[in-house]
Amino acid sequence: VARNPGEPEFHQALHEVLETLTPVLARHPEYQRHNIIEHLCEPERQIIFRVPWQDDAGQIQINRGFRINFNSAIGPYKGGLRFHPAVTIGTMKFLAFEQTFKNALTGLPIGSGKGGADFDPKGKSDAEVMRFCQSFMTELYRHIGDSTDVPAGDIGVGTREIGYLFGQYKRITNRYESGVITGKSPGWGGTVIRKKATGYGVVYFAEAMLAMKETELCNKTCVVSGSGNVALYAIEKLHSIGARVIACSDSDGVIIDENGLDIKTLIQIKEQDRDRLTAYRDHHPHAEYIKNGNIWDIPCDVAFPCATQNELHEKDANKLIQQGCIAVCEGANMPCTPEAVAVFLDNQIAYGPGKAANAGGVASSALEMQHNATRHSGFEYSEERLYEIMNNIHRQCCQTAEEFGVPGNYVVGANIAGFRRVADAMLAFGVI
Ligand code: NDP
Repeated sequence: VARNPGEPEFHQALHEVLETLTPVLARHPEYQRHNIIEHLCEPERQIIFRVPWQDDAGQIQINRGFRINFNSAIGPYKGGLRFHPAVTIGTMKFLAFEQTFKNALTGLPIGSGKGGADFDPKGKSDAEVMRFCQSFMTELYRHIGDSTDVPAGDIGVGTREIGYLFGQYKRITNRYESGVITGKSPGWGGTVIRKKATGYGVVYFAEAMLAMKETELCNKTCVVSGSGNVALYAIEKLHSIGARVIACSDSDGVIIDENGLDIKTLIQIKEQDRDRLTAYRDHHPHAEYIKNGNIWDIPCDVAFPCATQNELHEKDANKLIQQGCIAVCEGANMPCTPEAVAVFLDNQIAYGPGKAANAGGVASSALEMQHNATRHSGFEYSEERLYEIMNNIHRQCCQTAEEFGVPGNYVVGANIAGFRRVADAMLAFGVI
């Protein structure tokens, strides 16, 4: 804490992981001898930079940009960029730290990183977003590369922003280095599945968790917080497997449609019109909109927090369980507070932590990098591959939890399985 003042989310993420690692350290004194834990908690590099840009009124605006190169033991730094006014160095470090374990769990050769800016894309014109992205990349380009550090999207950064960022990278470097950034449009080096991969992957993970409890997602009533990239495609997949999603949200309120949310309308509102969720009622007047509502008040069988960190609190966890919720699967990063997680674990409901359950996005990004490296076009990854990766992550979590005497505890399973892969590589490289 003294070393990283004013970074509560980073402390929270460290605490959540470190408290589960004691048994693995006891079994492997070599990790302690080499002080692997301290290594693991200190980012390899932290970059902070000024991002000046001009708004449509001709005013110069200044934002702060970040890129954290957290751990490169198993591959180039890899992780998304977040544009949101609440972004701080602490947010970036917590996300990059989580990414270390998530990327290791995929089994693919990717290290961990994260970046972004305290820029608020809401209410900005296309031209303003473009000028911001160009200025951001004017500094970032010197720090990234397809074997060095490969950014992608996160909150506030979708295909449009990735396009502006890559365009500026290409202009400055005179290199068509597709593998320098992922989440690209399928027309110029991306994959169709990437946009859907995180949301679909979360649903595959939830299916695997429920199968362990000898039940299935089909016919279950679900709620999904958020209405961004992860939430939309989790809803789409849930719908396609026969689950009923009755509510989703944005930072202004909650929309409830007891008939099941219409995913086509949601995609139209959020992706094409770039509108707010209130617009859903223009298409479906029977739906209910609750301004500043709490989505976790709505009874459901399975809850999918897919918006942002610390959005689901202890009282929400208790309420969900009282109302019959049997599983919680995280699409967002660290959306449940530690107190909420304790409630889920104490009540032995199926709880899938984000670093395992939402790894489908970064896994398909790693496959995008591999294909970009071959310089072939026209490739596509099947959903089957994603399904296989998510089930493999699920299996690793289960086996590791079992090995350490806490069957069904995905927190312990994910943390220890991810940790061992990274720690072993760090040991192999010696102290550097
Ligand atoms: P988007 O920007 O596409 O969507 C974010 C959604 O969450 C929006 O509906 C937004 O509402 C809501 N939201 C954001 N901040 C807040 C807040 N402070 N309070 C309430 N609601 C909020 O982001 P993504 O869907 O890409 O990311 C969502 C989560 O998933 C994040 O935690 C991200 O780190 C994680 N994630 C994303 C991956 C990806 O592939 N995109 C991969 C793995 C994890 P509003 O529009 O009102 O702000």
